Amino acid sequence: MTLRRSLFLAIASALVLSAPASADERYVTENFVVHAPTKPLAKTFGEYAEKYRDEKARDWLGKEMPKWSQKCPLVVEITEGRTGGATTFTFSDRQSGVLSQEMKIFGSVKQLLDSVLPHEITHTVLAYHFGQAVPRWADEGGSVLSENDKERLDHDVKCREFLNAGRGIPLRILFAMKEYPRDMIVLYAQGYSVSDYLIALGGGGLKGRKRFLEFLETGMQKSNKNWEKAVAAHYEFDTVDNLQVQWIDSLRKPPADLASRSKLSGGGSTASLNKGRDELRGYDQRTSAGPALPQLEPPVLGTARGSTPREDDRAAPRQGQPTTRPTYSSPPNMLLLPPDLPKQ
Ligand SMILES: [Zn+2]
Repeated sequence: MTLRRSLFLAIASALVLSAPASADERYVTENFVVHAPTKPLAKTFGEYAEKYRDEKARDWLGKEMPKWSQKCPLVVEITEGRTGGATTFTFSDRQSGVLSQEMKIFGSVKQLLDSVLPHEITHTVLAYHFGQAVPRWADEGGSVLSENDKERLDHDVKCREFLNAGRGIPLRILFAMKEYPRDMIVLYAQGYSVSDYLIALGGGGLKGRKRFLEFLETGMQKSNKNWEKAVAAHYEFDTVDNLQVQWIDSLRKPPADLASRSKLSGGGSTASLNKGRDELRGYDQRTSAGPALPQLEPPVLGTARGSTPREDDRAAPRQGQPTTRPTYSSPPNMLLLPPDLPKQ
């Protein structure tokens, strides 16, 4: 996850980070000052941080990031059972972009190196690219894309479950969110799913990511309210609602088949989506008049597909977040099948 605090808080945190109790060995690389429980661990995490910094910048931007003017503190805590991370940025203006950043990760060594560290490093690439706060859904969705196969599959499964359970967030609301909803894990899972869909639609790889970043750039304009224009300009959808229809449709097809995702064929889900939309408009007192839901198989999760939920920053709201669940619980009520297992 990423946090954006006031400069004061960032400085206060930096002071705390400079003398962590459980991470008192230090290793300095070109761009990071790593604090970890042992010297070899600090060195390993420093080397991996630089490797991912280089790799993720190439994946997303097709080029290296220049050396940061200030090294990023990276605090590593080795914990059992709890996994997560946070990267805190302070931004100045578009010209100078990121003023400072700091990263804290906790979990098992394997989990940290496989998933959490590349996730957090991806936040730094996106922050560097935009020079400003990135919309939460895309910031987290794009970063989950950097995690390992198991974590991505887990988010894919969760996204379908949330949509089926009526916990999905309509895209026009998700896109415009500047902060995390209370149901944070929904933003992660849905943000990942939509990002993955759009990147595949744009051709996948660097090409798909480039188009996705251009789409975000447009959508972020007008105080993060330019999404209708962005979907039309970069993906040829008439509206964000239409993108939602097509995205849901793609989830009803085998997700491993990216080719099928890129076909913008109409689907039978429009009626259900319309129902979801009408329910959403129920805020302004419109009633739902949608037809019956399609009869699809409910999701059946095989044992190999299940996973222990991560007890990380996604599970609980941060301080200062709204304590009541936002009332947008009128998602497309779709019964979606679980995703295919990734090819080994
Ligand atoms: Zn994150």
